[in-house]
Amino acid sequence: MEPATARVVIIGAGHAGSNAAAFLRQYGWPGEIILLGEEPVLPYHRPPLSKAWLKGEATAESLALRPAEFYGKQNVALRLGAPVEAIDRGAKSLRLAAGEVLAYDHLILATGARARRIPLPGADLPLVHTLRNAADADRLKAGIGPGRRVVVIGAGWIGLEVAASARALGAAATVLEAQDRVLARVASPALSAFVDAAHRRHGVDLRLRVGIEAIEPDAVRLADGTRIPADLVLLGVGAVAEDTLARAAGLAEPGGGIRVDGSARTADPAIHAIGDCTVRPLPGGAMGRLESVPSATEQARQAAADLCGRPVPAPEVCWFWSDQYELRIQVAGLAQGAALGVFRGDPAAGDRLAVFHLDAAGAVQAVEAVNAAPEFMAGKRLIALGRPVSAARLADPATPLAALATA
Ligand code: FAD
Repeated sequence: MEPATARVVIIGAGHAGSNAAAFLRQYGWPGEIILLGEEPVLPYHRPPLSKAWLKGEATAESLALRPAEFYGKQNVALRLGAPVEAIDRGAKSLRLAAGEVLAYDHLILATGARARRIPLPGADLPLVHTLRNAADADRLKAGIGPGRRVVVIGAGWIGLEVAASARALGAAATVLEAQDRVLARVASPALSAFVDAAHRRHGVDLRLRVGIEAIEPDAVRLADGTRIPADLVLLGVGAVAEDTLARAAGLAEPGGGIRVDGSARTADPAIHAIGDCTVRPLPGGAMGRLESVPSATEQARQAAADLCGRPVPAPEVCWFWSDQYELRIQVAGLAQGAALGVFRGDPAAGDRLAVFHLDAAGAVQAVEAVNAAPEFMAGKRLIALGRPVSAARLADPATPLAALATA
């Protein structure tokens, strides 16, 4: 097969898929590129859906990842409103829901994730929403406004962002969380406490360690019988890999997701997978899922480089951000399992937080920063460096950040 005539088909026109098409051209892929998206709109930024877009601070145009002309100019055949129904790995072809069969020489699966549903009585009532795509966001936006009562189930990133946006829009917000702290799965107790305090300061009725019995047409009923009146309920209980196609084709893990290596290769040499649908190598060597724009972009680059016969870039430090109220939260690395947390500056100061998480050897494995971009950037560099640092110097705001790597 000559690359000049080879056809790459990308399934899923989200962050990962759109970036993969762009990187393929950037790295010199000479053949055909077909980008298939089930949604009817140009590939767009998902993060604003719970933040600026929900608050009415972003235009529809600003959501698009790239202007429509980009795809034509780059000779990428972008087909929107084109869900793929099945993959035939033996025949190296796929079938669109509309019936058309397309052959591929190489396939990239970039199908993302879908909102997790929970088997809760009333979860299918009309007041219940999930948030994954632009259509979800439009419905949600229509239901949030002054005086409305929004109940968020789940204090993860998206649930908390929606609560913050609801408050900004003048709605009352209640957040219900089963764990004993917000962001329990993804943040250290220090960051959880900081974010918790911010929500309470902004008038969110935040309830931890609560069980939910049922959703009713106008309320959420808790396990202890309390009824929390609701006009709108957001189920923010996480996302699961969208691996339906891969599963039917025998490429999905039993626990969900498509397993890939550090080059985004799957077990099938003709198929790469990228973005939220993957189970990928994590820092420290474990395998797991990372649902973030930087991860989707990194894997898009890996797949494109691999297909173009270029060296696959070295793994990046994983990172994530969230905006809530006046808080710009930035996290790099994974704090779980760290041996020591080191605060830089006073964590009780209220308006900013910087905490570095050190591994057993004294190297920085994660940094959590709120309104502390310089500390975040320094932490990211230190994680990449992987060398032990002096915890005392790290903690001392008088030590210039630039000097820490040499400590
Ligand atoms: P997606 O962007 O979800 O794209 C997958 C696409 O594949 C979708 O358009 C889907 O319709 C399509 N698809 C699926 N199946 C098929 C099929 N069979 N045929 C055709 N098309 C198909 N990350 C951050 O780093 N920071 C943030 O602040 C942040 N905020 C977020 C806020 C919200 C509300 C959401 C939902 C996500 C947020 N994320 C954030 C996560 C980030 O958006 C995702 O990690 C990123 O979108 C992953 O890109 P992806 O291409 O893998 O998946």
